[in-house]
This record gives sequence, structure tokens and C-alpha cells, in this order.
Amino acid sequence: MDKSIAGYELKCATYRAEHVSEDELWSAFAHLFSSQTRMVSSYKYGFLKSIIDNLYNVDEHLTLTFDQLFSKFGEIYWNLILKYELRQQAKRETYLEQIIRNAVAKYHLPDGIPYESLSAEMMIDISHQIKMKCKTNVVGALYGDTKGLFYSFDKRGEWLQINPQMYEFICKHKVTIEKLNYYEWAKFLESVNDDSVVNHLLSKIDESAKRNNLSYYRDILFQEFENRCFYCGKRVTKAHVDVDHFIPWSFIKDDNIWNFVLACPECNRRKSDKLADPKYLDNLIVRNTNLETESYKGMENYRRDRLLKIYSWARKNGYNEIWMPKKKVEEY
Ligand SMILES: [Zn+2]
Repeated sequence: MDKSIAGYELKCATYRAEHVSEDELWSAFAHLFSSQTRMVSSYKYGFLKSIIDNLYNVDEHLTLTFDQLFSKFGEIYWNLILKYELRQQAKRETYLEQIIRNAVAKYHLPDGIPYESLSAEMMIDISHQIKMKCKTNVVGALYGDTKGLFYSFDKRGEWLQINPQMYEFICKHKVTIEKLNYYEWAKFLESVNDDSVVNHLLSKIDESAKRNNLSYYRDILFQEFENRCFYCGKRVTKAHVDVDHFIPWSFIKDDNIWNFVLACPECNRRKSDKLADPKYLDNLIVRNTNLETESYKGMENYRRDRLLKIYSWARKNGYNEIWMPKKKVEEY
């Protein structure tokens, strides 16, 4: 990294590929969250969350496109700004706030509308505008503040490639790093917002990219092959079924077709935030092979090996309670 220019000014950069110790990787994050890194808005936290929430959407070279990153970034900020009315900077409105408020006016949207209620065209339009504005500073700033260890990037090519050492490290310590990020982010938001909007602040940050309407996935799974509960085998109907994140949402923080199964409401409630028994992981891999054959949207970056790893990373991150339905109606 050229030390004479600040990270945010870089047009492209390469990660430091030399082997570094875990201590050094931790120190990159300690530096990022320290008061030494300049901070006028909350973008750095939001961009880190966009990467962490996209960890399992990387391709085989651990690359993410700016479209993937900034559509998540846009979703997070849309909800923080409109749904939760959280300012992102002390004195004046940020560019991001302007883009979002302009979109509300342009599309005549009601106050506080959540991101998931927007049409696909609106989402594309908004995340494109956010990408064009924010890619200039945000990508290089986070690169510089993590001592050049996090990723390589190219603003013109609009991609970012995560350092493999860093990728393993973040996957292993995901929950801890996420908590550090939320803590610093919340502290920042508290300093620039009125007391009236900072209640439940950590939940607001955590759920800024959570979608509640999963009917799109329910319809696909139904149509394809599942009219039984993935866990207990009981017959389900469209009116009486839940879409379950196989690896809990609280760990994965993203909606992926390869991680969704249909479950009866009882199993979904009982499984809750737990991991299912490994034999269901095997069943999911078989099920996903079918989805791959049909080349469903969202299966592009699915890897069987990665799903196995995510399951074990979840266990390393504290998801130790393994769940099984009490009785199984019949074999899946
Ligand atoms: Zn069930």
C-alpha cells in the first residue's frame, strides 16, 4: 500500500498477501474500530456489514461485485434511515440520505416504507445510485483502515476480492467481529441521534437487512418438490407452512435459496435459532443438487463444500445446540 495517499483516494489496490498471524488480523480490526481511524459518517460500519452479510455469496476466487455489496448496503441504510429514522452523520445530511429521500419523492412512497416492499426495479435504481456515489470513498477507506489486509479492489471493474487468510479468519470469528462492529456503530449512532430514536439500537442495526416476506422462496420450493415438512415429513399446505433458514438467519444474515426449506409451523417454532441434526444437512445437500440441476437463480455461488463449512463455522461461533424433531412421520 502506498502510504502517501489515503485509502479512500485509491482507485484500485491489492491485499497484502504475505502470511500474517491471527494476532495481526485481530490488530487490523482493532485499528479499524479504534479512534485513530477518521469517522464522519457510519459508512465504514455499514460497508463491513455488507461484506459480512455477503460472505457466502463469494465466487470461487472469493470475489464480490459492487452490485452485490451495494444492494445490501442500500438495503441496510434504507431501513436505518427511513424505517428507524436514524441519522448517519451529525451536522448535515449524507449523500446516502439524500439519494434515499429523493427516491421516496420520485416514487411517491409512504413514510417509513421498509426496503422489502419496494419493487425490483426500484431496488435496482436505488442501489445503482448508491453504488455510484459511495464506491468512490467507502471501498478504499475500509481497505486502508484494515491495513491493506482485508481485500483487493478495483473501482473501475467494480469488484472486491477478499484475502483468503482474512476470509477464513472472519468466518471463524464472524459472530465476534459482527458484535464489535455493531457496538462501535451503535456508539456512533447514539452520538449523532436524539434519544427518542436510539431505543433498541442494536436490534435495529442487526435487523436492518432482515426480510420478513419469504413467499417468493415458499412458492419456488413448493412448485419444485416439497409438500412435506423438511424435518418431520408431515404434509404441509401453502396456507400452513413456514420458510425456514436451515442455518439460522441470526448466523447467516442473508436469504439464499440453498439455505431455505419448508417446515411445518411446529418444527419451525421448535427449531428456532438452533442448528438441525447433521443428517438433515445431508438431506439438504441432496435437495440442493436438484436445485442446481434446474439452475435456479441464487444457486450461482452455491458450493456443497462451502455449505458443509458454514455448518461447522456456525458451530464454532456458538451454535452448539443441535435440534431434531421429536417424531418423524416418515423418511424424507
Ligand atoms: Zn415438521
